[in-house]
Amino acid sequence: MMRYSAWSVFKNGLTGQKHWDRVWRDPDPKPAYDVVIVGAGLHGLATAYYLAENHGVRNIAVLEKGWLGGGNAGRNTTIVRSNYMMPGNRDFYEHSLKLWERLSHELNYNVMFSQRAHISLFHSPAARDGAARRYNTMRLTDTEAELWDLDTLKKEVPHLNYQNARFPIIGAAVQRRAGSARHDAVAWGYARAADARGVDIIQNCEVVGVTREGSQVNALETTRGTISAMKVGFAVAGNTSRLWGMAELGKLPIETHLLQAFVSEPLKPLLDQVVVFGVGGAHFYISQSDKGGMVFGGDLDWYKSYAQRGNLPIVQDVSECATSILPCLARVRLLRHWSGVMDMSMDGSPFICKTPVDNLYLNAGWNYGGFKASPASGWYFADLIANDRPDSVIRHFDLKRFEKGINIDERGAGPDPKLHG
Ligand SMILES: Cc1cc2nc3c(=O)[nH]c(=O)nc-3n(C[C@H](O)[C@H](O)[C@H](O)COP(=O)(O)OP(=O)(O)OC[C@H]3O[C@@H](n4cnc5c(N)ncnc54)[C@H](O)[C@@H]3O)c2cc1C
Repeated sequence: MMRYSAWSVFKNGLTGQKHWDRVWRDPDPKPAYDVVIVGAGLHGLATAYYLAENHGVRNIAVLEKGWLGGGNAGRNTTIVRSNYMMPGNRDFYEHSLKLWERLSHELNYNVMFSQRAHISLFHSPAARDGAARRYNTMRLTDTEAELWDLDTLKKEVPHLNYQNARFPIIGAAVQRRAGSARHDAVAWGYARAADARGVDIIQNCEVVGVTREGSQVNALETTRGTISAMKVGFAVAGNTSRLWGMAELGKLPIETHLLQAFVSEPLKPLLDQVVVFGVGGAHFYISQSDKGGMVFGGDLDWYKSYAQRGNLPIVQDVSECATSILPCLARVRLLRHWSGVMDMSMDGSPFICKTPVDNLYLNAGWNYGGFKASPASGWYFADLIANDRPDSVIRHFDLKRFEKGINIDERGAGPDPKLHG
């Protein structure tokens, strides 16, 4: 594989850009693999990469029904943070953030990770106390965190509505190492690095059936033929319940909901950070892309669906949030909006675990937050598949936590997926 560098850009510039290698191959599926991962989103691709890189597994396929990165991987608002409080989530997301910090070097691909700070506004003393508890817990467990008073916030983010907001802003909780990255680049970077290690990434290959014999998966029926595997991993995000059904495993504690994202026309530099607010039933997050578009989103569409398109009431709701917090956006035009299908778990926390079938492994339940999780998710899912036991960091991410009543209820929203972030 050609190494990307300033020199390779210079050389190819001089030779008419004609000598770049293909970024990944387009192989036909083989009849059998050691490991098959279903889903070429960020989690599936990262898993394949770490299986090859960390565990030396070479005979791997990633099966994708559409095109690589065409699911939530290519539809999210790209916020990366590790401001979690609950044991179980904390170590995991901090490990992920550390992987993000060196990901471009690791993959030799610029994922445009930008640590521009994540700023959660608070609007009441009670919210400030809640944020203080969470951010102080982070500090006590080796993640940096700050609480800003109003004067500091005004200095750092001058354009917010400090005058006549319905819910006055009184300060913010901040993680400076948090930020955003380019979502497509992450998918392409993992794909390229996995492919270079021999992983077959097979697009337009939908899994339509799972053949089981007792407690083993024998083969996957796909639109490109039958493929057998010693081990199978599901990493299909919003489609998890469908695959689970094909494996005849009953019901999962996951519901699939829609989440929309929005991009405005490009503007001159306006916002240097990721800004979030949630108060009085509203939920909103915004940042500015390198091309100048304001990238923002809000709540789920409030109903379950597999359709990757959203509806107008949420467009109105999110636009109202945008103009209430940043009134200067009132006359900015919306350029695009789209939706993805979210795998919402009942406690707002994920699953990276074994299943009742011996050689089948599950990666799901990412809610709104699977982009930031993708490096650690791939890291630990690969480890689980290779060693057939969970690392201690992910020991809580088990389906059995619902049987035992030890849910990792990060948002405290109970069994109501649409309320989880
Ligand atoms: C609008 C929006 C905003 C978001 N914002 C953020 C954010 O700011 N920060 C954050 O951390 N997270 C965010 N997320 C969440 C994050 O994008 C997801 O949690 C994460 O991308 C899910 O993992 P994935 O990339 O592997 O999923 P996907 O990219 O959806 O990958 C799953 C793949 O499986 C494939 N597949 C499904 N069924 C089959 C089948 N039968 N056979 C073969 N292939 C199949 C799909 O085509 C898909 O490509 C957001 C999501 C959305 C939709």
